[in-house]
Amino acid sequence: MSAEHPFVVLPREVAQRIEDADASVGELTLQYLPSEDMYVVRRVAVNGVGVQVRLSDYPTLNWEGTVFIGQWMTKPAPGINEKHLDMLRRGADVHAPYADFKDSLPSLLDPGTKTGFLITHDPDIPADWLTLGVQQYAAWLVNREGVRPMPLAVEPAKLGLGQLEGKWPVADLQRARIAVVGIGSIGGAVAQALAQYGVGTVDLVDPDRFLWHNMVRHVLGPDAVGRYKVDAMKSVLEKRWPDTAAPAHRLDVVEDAHLMRSLFAGVDLILCAADGIAPRRVVSHLARRAGKPAILACVLDDGALAEVIRLRPSPRYGCLLCLRKSLRDQNALDAEAAQELDYGTGFIHRPMTAVGSDLHLVGQFAAKAAVATLLEAQHGDHTQRLPGDYATIGLRPPGDMAAPFDLDRALQVNWAGLPSPRPDCTTCNP
Ligand SMILES: [Zn+2]
Repeated sequence: MSAEHPFVVLPREVAQRIEDADASVGELTLQYLPSEDMYVVRRVAVNGVGVQVRLSDYPTLNWEGTVFIGQWMTKPAPGINEKHLDMLRRGADVHAPYADFKDSLPSLLDPGTKTGFLITHDPDIPADWLTLGVQQYAAWLVNREGVRPMPLAVEPAKLGLGQLEGKWPVADLQRARIAVVGIGSIGGAVAQALAQYGVGTVDLVDPDRFLWHNMVRHVLGPDAVGRYKVDAMKSVLEKRWPDTAAPAHRLDVVEDAHLMRSLFAGVDLILCAADGIAPRRVVSHLARRAGKPAILACVLDDGALAEVIRLRPSPRYGCLLCLRKSLRDQNALDAEAAQELDYGTGFIHRPMTAVGSDLHLVGQFAAKAAVATLLEAQHGDHTQRLPGDYATIGLRPPGDMAAPFDLDRALQVNWAGLPSPRPDCTTCNP
């Protein structure tokens, strides 16, 4: 399509009224938005009864502009919408002589010295033509010098994850429920990604408020300042992804661990994106007790590296502390010892020093790991098998660290497995 064509937007409500009408011709009112070179149909009349449409979900389409009066016609002439596409493809300066057009559409109003507007609706376009790009609706600018086609977009009847039905396991994930612990920069990206994957319920757990300094790294913006992170995230998620419910829990996973037990009992998986060592340990322990898989995601070493761990509630696999112990036994990394220190005293666990997009990348990675885990375990989807249970990811890797952090390239991912449980582990052996 040439860039010089003005554009036309036809809201679903208008299209529906045209499709349901017991008349074949009626009036339209449009707003022309010069900055967008776009016409938006805002009012439709059937048998002289007009209805103004509300487009509150789409602010741009509600902008006020120059008002135009137009016409709609259903099945006005065979082949008219095929002709529309042909003319559009031939370029923006292509027009049909007014007299010819009027001859084929006798109910077309004479625009006189002005410009008229017409939408032609043909519900009987052959399937062959539809695949070639002919649409049921076509828009025309009509004046005495000639009639020009305009590209038109009709708001679809079906929106949301349902559009992906048949291409993505929408129904399976709609029944899934995942708790996200920590709605910081990683957790916010996790929550957004889970909703976009179609997870039906995403429980949000975080005790903190969203403040100015959070904005530079977070998916939330100025609208959220002052609110609890979970409440602001719930508002944004449920508006953008109405297929997802996002219950907000203003809770601290460590201090409110007793409340976490009942929450974790009701979910399919727990994803911990909280800062610090203690929340990760609590999630590791409680997830194991609840018999649920858990994904732990964080960045390390001032954002140089990321770590995504999948814990599995199986006697074959150890918990977080068993993994840490096995890494220490392999003499893996001095920093491991530091990571066992409380947050604030350890030098390594400082996500606040990373850049937002790197944190979002880790969040999306962790969300994919969570969804893949459920699809493989619950629905036998072998396309969703992961290479391992423990991923380390290079973000700005220094290249001088021991395994499993021996990454020397950005975006390098090393995968490893989980160790067996330690015989004396109180998490793995209740
Ligand atoms: Zn253990």
